[in-house]
Amino acid sequence: MPKSNQKFKKKQYKIYLDHASATPIESSVFLKMIKFSKENFANSSAIHNSGVKIKKILEEIRKEVAEFLGSHSNEVIFTSGATESNNLAILGVVNKNTQFIFPHIIVTNIEHASVLEVCKYLEKTKKAEVTYVEVENNGIVNPKKIRKALKVNTILVSVNYANNEIGTIQPLREIAKEIRHYKKKISMKNSSSRLYPIFHTDATQAINYLPISVEKLGIDLLSFNSAKIYGPKGVGVLYIKRNTSIQKIIFGGDQEFIFRPGTENVANILGLKEALVLTNKIRNKESARLIKLRNYFLKELKKVSKTIFGGDFTINGSLKNRLPNNINITIPKIPSDLLVIELSARGVEASSKSACKTGDNKASHVIKAINKPARPHENSGAGGNIKEIDGSLRFSLGRSTTKKDIDYTIQALSKVLNKLKKWYD
Ligand code: PMP
Repeated sequence: MPKSNQKFKKKQYKIYLDHASATPIESSVFLKMIKFSKENFANSSAIHNSGVKIKKILEEIRKEVAEFLGSHSNEVIFTSGATESNNLAILGVVNKNTQFIFPHIIVTNIEHASVLEVCKYLEKTKKAEVTYVEVENNGIVNPKKIRKALKVNTILVSVNYANNEIGTIQPLREIAKEIRHYKKKISMKNSSSRLYPIFHTDATQAINYLPISVEKLGIDLLSFNSAKIYGPKGVGVLYIKRNTSIQKIIFGGDQEFIFRPGTENVANILGLKEALVLTNKIRNKESARLIKLRNYFLKELKKVSKTIFGGDFTINGSLKNRLPNNINITIPKIPSDLLVIELSARGVEASSKSACKTGDNKASHVIKAINKPARPHENSGAGGNIKEIDGSLRFSLGRSTTKKDIDYTIQALSKVLNKLKKWYD
């Protein structure tokens, strides 16, 4: 535990531990974008020299992004962010494949709102049937359960690569294998090759920490944005494998191989690419550093929890198959929103659930999903012990996080817990 006489100058401290919801833009990326924007403002579809020059730059960037993904250039579509990429992936597949009168979609029950809300819309409007496969109490889906949910009319399976709240990493390769086996079996029956189900992943949280090869993962569609990789906000990618049956969802010009009309924001796209270059360069070293810091955080937290509660806190989701920067815990009895506010008053910025759902007073759907009562043979997750009031507290570390920041955070948290414990005892 940090020594109690360790002094931290209050005013100087603002410790940002919410990198899962947004990362600061890297200065080098920002400078390149500004320089580019000042010199290049023409429309990339214009046929005069300035337009042609920008189009050329755009296509060079596309090629580099494609190389990162292990894909072809014309499989990379730039969008406004991961929400749009996810919407395009799901609605684009459903709208294109009208030969399925009532198509079936499979997702997990811990997807991001930009996937779940589209599914709910499709159900409500009777455009598709959706199966929400439950993850295990460790926050990871069993590929066999996906296999079991597949039907002849399943056109799409969408599983996030890493969860935004608890950071758990899903076994995409194994899921892809199950889908492949299923396709083969159906093809043999009908003696035809089968295009469905299409496999989509939302890799927004993963891209900073896990190298991506769409081929190795066995993915047809992949979404991510640049806001989580220290790049600009308002730009993302949808990788669309060649011959995937999908169509645009907004109408206008024929930019982005007709999949995404609208003038490209090439400065933002450049920022995304530069952020990717940097991420790839430092990924291994930074991941190892963050795992060390996270373990230290958890060790110190254990001591605090023992002193204050005489007991432990719950780590939500598997610690083993998890993003290096994610800590998501439940401290019993104290509402996590209150913890976030009290911590913020002391200069520590954490979160209680996905920033996209803070307007919603209900407990996080992710924490609910991993908090099912444990069966006798299971020994993971909270096993039904988390009450609605408790919620969860997420600390997501980042490139600027130091051991000193963790020490300060632990001190602040122990003060907050001591204060709030009296109220809730
Ligand atoms: N998917 C995941 C997993 C996310 O974490 C986020 C951002 N919170 C999104 C999608 C949406 O990204 P954007 O804000 O770029 O639309």
